[in-house]
Amino acid sequence: MGSYPEKIWFNGGIVPWQDANIHVMSHVVHYGSSVFEGIRSYETPSGVCIFRLTDHLRRLYASAKIYEMQIDVEPDILRRACFEVLEANGLRGGYLRPVAWRGLGGFGLSAQTPIEVAVAAWNMGPYLGPGVLEQGIDACVSSWQRMAPNTIPTGAKAGGNYLSGQLIAREARRLGFGEGIALASTGLLSEGAGENLFLVFDGVLHTTPVSAALLNGITRDSIISLARANGIAVVERDLPREYLYLADEIFMCGTAAEITPIRSVDGRAVGSGRPGPLTARIQQLFFGLFDGSTPDPAGWLEYR
Ligand code: PMP
Repeated sequence: MGSYPEKIWFNGGIVPWQDANIHVMSHVVHYGSSVFEGIRSYETPSGVCIFRLTDHLRRLYASAKIYEMQIDVEPDILRRACFEVLEANGLRGGYLRPVAWRGLGGFGLSAQTPIEVAVAAWNMGPYLGPGVLEQGIDACVSSWQRMAPNTIPTGAKAGGNYLSGQLIAREARRLGFGEGIALASTGLLSEGAGENLFLVFDGVLHTTPVSAALLNGITRDSIISLARANGIAVVERDLPREYLYLADEIFMCGTAAEITPIRSVDGRAVGSGRPGPLTARIQQLFFGLFDGSTPDPAGWLEYR
């Protein structure tokens, strides 16, 4: 993050960064009971937009619903908070982090605690490191599997899920890889530690289905729409691990990672070992949204 931004939207208003605190006995500290979003804002020819803000907020409230967390702040207020926190920090783009959590009040797993809400914003370059969007990363398959579907729901973007992500990402970095890819409890491919996955075979995009223990990513959805609108076929399907070694191209995607090419998996080159043409085309379509070269018929670029 570099230096901290000055302001945070915290339980209803903008406060200085150092005042946005919670009590150590808050439920979330002990039990991982938070839900959150990661959203990017981009500067465009029409001003500063927040990408698919409505969809991200919808997912935030959906994650809360799964965990029986009643967020009393209306979506419209949170929507305004996102723009306010960008402005309060003088940001013209960057990363937004709305988060809701179980606060102080009652202890025990089923305690009816207050639900608190905050939105932070800061500048963020490419999540997986400088230059990765152009050069790609070397990935590995993790020794850690994703949660089985009847354990912790991966369709909720909840704080506790990211214990799984931490094991996968930290193991990958420790072994010298740029990111880890997890298998589901079925043994089939799931997703990256914090990214969805696309493989290219013969000009067709293949991505793992929501039943493969993954978060139904908004970037993934955007890529599927952009590809289909531009005559590129996409199939959502179960994929076995070895397809990672056979694909012509692979990329990861997510709000933070944007579209990051993968140039090798487990030491085996993906295709030529360099980011491929379809990956470049998807990057061009995606980033083209923000300079106006890709049309935005669905209104994904949201302005204040
Ligand atoms: N999977 C996981 C586990 C993630 O944390 C993320 C990032 N939120 C994604 C996929 C990608 O989702 P999105 O495109 O909505 O950011």
